[in-house]
Amino acid sequence: MSFSLEVKEQLLRVNTSKNCCRQAEFLAFLRMCGNVSLAGGGRFGLLATTGSPGVARRYFKLVKELWGLRSEILMRDSQHFNKSRIYTLRIPPQDEVRQVLDLLAKIPDGNPWNAGQDIGRVTTLREVFASECCRRAYLRGAFLGSGFVSDPHRAYHLEIVCQDIYQAHFLLALTAEYQLNLKISERKGRFLVYGKGGEQISDFLNIIGAHGALLELENVRVIKDTSNNVNRIINCDTANTDKAVEAAQRQVKAINRLVEAGRLSGLSKSLQETAAIRLENPELPLAELKELFDKPISKAGLYHRLQKLEKLADELI
Ligand SMILES: [Zn+2]
Repeated sequence: MSFSLEVKEQLLRVNTSKNCCRQAEFLAFLRMCGNVSLAGGGRFGLLATTGSPGVARRYFKLVKELWGLRSEILMRDSQHFNKSRIYTLRIPPQDEVRQVLDLLAKIPDGNPWNAGQDIGRVTTLREVFASECCRRAYLRGAFLGSGFVSDPHRAYHLEIVCQDIYQAHFLLALTAEYQLNLKISERKGRFLVYGKGGEQISDFLNIIGAHGALLELENVRVIKDTSNNVNRIINCDTANTDKAVEAAQRQVKAINRLVEAGRLSGLSKSLQETAAIRLENPELPLAELKELFDKPISKAGLYHRLQKLEKLADELI
């Protein structure tokens, strides 16, 4: 399975219980892959295509639960050489579609019906999604719709294909909040939002909730970037015992917070193992702690996992 597909599979397992986030995620998917179809009597339908049956099923279920919309999934073979299948989520014209369109109208686009919008307006994205959870969900939906991330062993490349420049700027504004510094380029009349840094991609995966893929990427990064900051920080850490003790206390605190929030069981095996070993040995320096693992792990790798745990704990509100 490609890394990109792996990320998407993981995202399909992200269960957002909040309706605000589910709406945001679906709106993004529609903006990336969807179209409005017109029917008589001022009624509208929706169509959205994807190469993933899992994505189609996710939104089939979602529109039913959120708005009571009837829909169907149509399947056909692509005309391309690779003969991949294309899945269309078809929501036939029905009154409830109006609710989706009203929400959709809040998001800037190139639609002449929504005249008066300009790119500058995108900076007020908090008007569109007041909560951070929804802004993250929107990015997740956009990636599920038309995102791609290359195998980190080969290259660090992330992109999301947008149907218009407004969408591209909207995504850029959303990611700017996390200092992601993505860029836009045009390809065959479509607009790509892309990033090329390992750290950028790692942060992006974290934002959209692909934590397993994030760890995989981080492992590759640790191996690849031998002279990166991580090693420098570790050296500083071990040179100064006080600092190391302080760091260990911070780690234990973070792990306890994850445990209390019930988040630990959802994490990868390696992270769970790391958390358990740290909790049992709250004072052990990294050099000794790493010896307690079944599978050999480097000090840098261990440090990275502990940092991940802290980062995840920081994200709990
Ligand atoms: Zn939300």
